[in-house]
Amino acid sequence: MLIKFCGAAGEVTGSCHFVQVDDTAVLLDCGIFQGGEERHIRNREPFPFEPQNVKAVLLSHAHLDHCGRLPLLVKAGFKGKIFATEATCDLAKIVLLDAAKLQEEDAAWKIKRLKKKGEDWSWVSPLFTAADAEQVFDHFEPVPYGEWVTLAPHLEFRFRDAGHLLGSAMVELKWRSGETERTLLFTGDLGQQGMPILRDPEPVEEADLLLMESTYGDREHTMGFNECVEQLREIVKETVSQGGRVLIPSFAVGRTQEVLYALNDLIESKQLPVVPVFVDSPMAREVLRVYQRHRELYDEEARQKVRSGDEPFTFPGLRIVATVEESKVLNELNEPCIIIAGSGMCTGGRIKHHLRHGIGNPNNAIVFVGFQAKGSLGRQIVEGVSPVRIFGEMHEVKAKVYMLDGFSAHAGRAQLLDWASKFVKPPTQTFVVHGEQEASQSLAQALQERGWNATVPQIGQQASFV
Ligand code: ZN
Repeated sequence: MLIKFCGAAGEVTGSCHFVQVDDTAVLLDCGIFQGGEERHIRNREPFPFEPQNVKAVLLSHAHLDHCGRLPLLVKAGFKGKIFATEATCDLAKIVLLDAAKLQEEDAAWKIKRLKKKGEDWSWVSPLFTAADAEQVFDHFEPVPYGEWVTLAPHLEFRFRDAGHLLGSAMVELKWRSGETERTLLFTGDLGQQGMPILRDPEPVEEADLLLMESTYGDREHTMGFNECVEQLREIVKETVSQGGRVLIPSFAVGRTQEVLYALNDLIESKQLPVVPVFVDSPMAREVLRVYQRHRELYDEEARQKVRSGDEPFTFPGLRIVATVEESKVLNELNEPCIIIAGSGMCTGGRIKHHLRHGIGNPNNAIVFVGFQAKGSLGRQIVEGVSPVRIFGEMHEVKAKVYMLDGFSAHAGRAQLLDWASKFVKPPTQTFVVHGEQEASQSLAQALQERGWNATVPQIGQQASFV
């Protein structure tokens, strides 16, 4: 058995691990590299394996850093199946088409700019197009949690709930080596315990090899989910009483649904007055439909709500904004309201228009509900930079700025270690992946202190086992 780390090794994005057992090769994820200018080059590099020889992709979940290079894999000759839970297949289609659209728009904009300057533009092309993304869909093969699927004689896998996003899974791969059975467990991304809608990550008791994520391997969230909801209530109350608007930059997949779930509770229990809530994202609307189609995946609390007749993402005042025209109308609205729009880090999308109109008003509030990467507009605002540049113009930041990081979809350090403590004996070898260097090293060290054989692999590194 051979494993090669082809992404999310010593970094957070580009999740992709090549695993070969005898002569069967599979990929665990095939995600895109995000952040940094070098991503443009890295995402276009040939895969460090033969795509046509890969029998299957076992996809953990639908976030782009886990599925975003699938169109490139298919283009490069991959002929196999892409196994994922049904919810992941549904969400990945939305995510890939959205990414393709952004890539195409980006390329068109670049070409226009180069043409204007009279420069060569023939080298510009989108990383992948909507047509490329659609090629991926035929390869999807939905598999329920817990069901063993045979990939080759003596090689099978099953998905287990990772509690990170609707449909998110850990991958348990099992094969025979001589007379003994071996297992590899790939965590994908592990969710926080006690989050709404989603079930907690399943405890796992044994594996010979473990590939474990470490996004928050060196830190904790500053507040829990319930505390975030309380703060959100106070922020909305205060802002509405001043006649202002609450702007929530939010990722359309997962995070927006959590925020809606929280607002549903606050408004229906009358802890907040009915106030117009606009979800300004066509993508969020599609994602919401997937959430409504897969209620069987909800946790007990959310299911109880559905049974009692409550629709957990729908409440008085909620409006989903579909068209750009409707979105523009919001700017002329004078009443207090809440606007949820992407992108989550304010690097693009409709939130930038709302910020341009609202950032200079001291009665308004900007509420961040997710991680803000270095270099993003969101990060500048969180760090108190003012003025900030939006669409080429400088704007003073007069709105109040809040960071509620307990909405995070990732387990914090203590929860990662708690999840690992459920193993009855340490895996023979643990590879700590999907984290910045410091985060991965810190988690690996904590595991070593507990007697585990844990290391942080680097990209391109390979290891073999008998
Ligand atoms: Zn994820």
